[in-house]
Formats: sequence, C-alpha cells, structure tokens
Amino acid sequence: MEFTADLTEIIQRTNDVKSFRFNRPAGFDYKAGQFMFVTTTVLGERVRKPFTISSSPTENDHIEFTKKLTGHDYSNALDEMVVGDVIDIDGPHGSLTFEGEYDKIALLSGGIGITPMISICKYCSDVELDTKITLISSNKVQQDIVFGEELDRMERGNRNLKVVHTLTRADEDWQGCRERICDSMIVHEIPDYKEYVFYLCGPPLMIDSMVSILNSMGIPKSQVKQESLVGY
Ligand SMILES: Cc1cc2nc3c(=O)[nH]c(=O)nc-3n(C[C@H](O)[C@H](O)[C@H](O)COP(=O)(O)OP(=O)(O)OC[C@H]3O[C@@H](n4cnc5c(N)ncnc54)[C@H](O)[C@@H]3O)c2cc1C
Repeated sequence: MEFTADLTEIIQRTNDVKSFRFNRPAGFDYKAGQFMFVTTTVLGERVRKPFTISSSPTENDHIEFTKKLTGHDYSNALDEMVVGDVIDIDGPHGSLTFEGEYDKIALLSGGIGITPMISICKYCSDVELDTKITLISSNKVQQDIVFGEELDRMERGNRNLKVVHTLTRADEDWQGCRERICDSMIVHEIPDYKEYVFYLCGPPLMIDSMVSILNSMGIPKSQVKQESLVGY
C-alpha cells in the first residue's frame, strides 16, 4: 500500500533516536516486525529509505517508525520535521515477522535493531500470547538503550517476557551484562536455547557474528530469522 501520511507526534527516545508517528490509514495491515519505505524531500530531491515499523499491529490509531539520527542529509531532513508535515509511505514489507507461530522465541538485537523486537514484544503482550520470549538487546552505553522504559513495563506485565540488556562500554555502576552477545550469554540466559527460534536484527557485522555463533551452537538455519539494517 502506498499513501501520504501526516506526522502526528514526534517522540525523542534518546539523545540521537526519535520516533515518528502517523495516523494509521484504513486498510494498512501489517505484521509485527515488518518494515516500510519512507520517502521525504532531501535537499530538493525525493529520497526513500526502509524503516521497521516500531508500533504493533494492535495499535490501531497510529503507525510509528524510529530513526537513529546520523547527522547525514536524509536523517537531518527527518530530524527537522514538525507535526503536520507529510511523508510518503510504501509498505508493509519483510519477513522478520511473528504472529504466534512458535512457542519460544529469542530476539537478539544490536543498537537500533531493537525496532522489530519492540513491535514483536508489544504484539505478543497485547494479544496475551503464551509464547516464551527472551530479548537480548546489545548497546554501547546505558544512554543508548531505546524503549528501555517500555520494555521494563512490558516485562512486568507479561510473565512470558524476559529482557536482558548488555552494554559493551558500560559505566562502572552498570550491574548487567558487559559483553557482546556470545554463546555463553545465550546459554546462561536461555538454558533451553535449542528449543527457540532466533530473530536477529542489527548492523551486518553483528548479524554475521550471531549467525556464526548460533551455527557453532548447533542451531539449524531453519531456526534463525534475520534482518540486516543495510540493503534495499
Ligand atoms: C529492512 C531495514 C529496516 C531498517 N530499519 C531501521 C530502523 O528501524 N531505524 C533506523 O534508524 N534505521 C533503519 N534502517 C536503516 C535505514 O534505512 C538507514 O539506512 C539508516 O537509518 C541510515 O540512514 P541515514 O540517511 O541516516 O545515513 P546514511 O547517510 O545512509 O549513512 C549510513 C552509513 O553510511 C556511512 N556514511 C554515509 N554517508 C556518510 C558521510 N557523509 N560521512 C560519513 N559516513 C557516511 C556511515 O557509516 C553511516 O552510518 C533499516 C534498514 C533496513 C534495510
């Protein structure tokens, strides 16, 4: 579906991450984890880039995407948008989706790769699925954690959801994990990991590393779904 959408709300998530919300038009159906193409005018030219839909299909009044602000031209054009501005949307696309197909899922994300995971967690929590979910989210420092409060709230309300944050450059007072996602972390956090379907989202190097770790742990390819944040 292609449509022009009015920006209704901007949410500053962290210092360099913003969510952009639009009215959800009638007939715009999507699955948790899908993405859409967003076109806006950048220095006089129309530019189109893919963004995961960070809202959940259960949220009827809005759709949202969440952008890591890079200081580059397209990013700056979005950063300067105000409520009432319009963008063009083409979607939904993508197959990193979850609608309750599996009993146990592990969501492994790096940085802004959290966006499909928040949609999946919100969806499962809202429709009260019995699916056991472990989310391991990797960031550099505590200030980089996007959707931290939302995930805390969801974890309190959904006994099937476990959220683990790992920080690779944490302050001294950080009590949680301090490593990149690795095999021993997966074994520790998900002892029955062989029964899980793994969802991976993040930068290409992180995805390559996760695929090779899961392969070395004996997880078949059929139990691994992935989306790199580069492409299209
Ligand atoms: C399926 C899919 C889903 C995605 N979902 C999201 C999402 O939910 N949120 C999100 O933020 N992104 C998402 N992305 C990535 C998004 O599409 C953009 O590529 C990304 O946000 C960077 O766009 P940009 O215009 O800010 O940066 P770009 O200008 O495209 O820069 C990207 C990278 O290229 C290099 N680069 C390019 N130009 C320069 C320059 N002048 N100086 C230095 N380095 C440069 C840098 O390494 C930089 O980090 C997704 C991508 C895919 C394929």
